[in-house]
Amino acid sequence: MARLIVLLILAMFVYFTVKNIFRAPSRKMSGKKPEDAGSRDLQDAGEMAEDPVCGTYVSVDSSPSLYKNGQKFYFCSEECKKKFEELKNN
Ligand SMILES: [Zn+2]
Repeated sequence: MARLIVLLILAMFVYFTVKNIFRAPSRKMSGKKPEDAGSRDLQDAGEMAEDPVCGTYVSVDSSPSLYKNGQKFYFCSEECKKKFEELKNN
């Protein structure tokens, strides 16, 4: 009976080891696409600005921007930029 328990523990150990092996590559794969990880970009990039229209954080280098009242605003898309201009004009 004791041998059966040892065998069961061994089987469990093998099961979890195999599970970890299969889990490892998928974790690596998700780390390979940094462009998709929006939350990670937030921490990595020093210059981020909040889109005043939709609240998305965008990179200062690669997003449409607009000067208004001496302040520069950044937008996630040209659509948000247009919306912002419309809101300001009304
Ligand atoms: Zn936006």
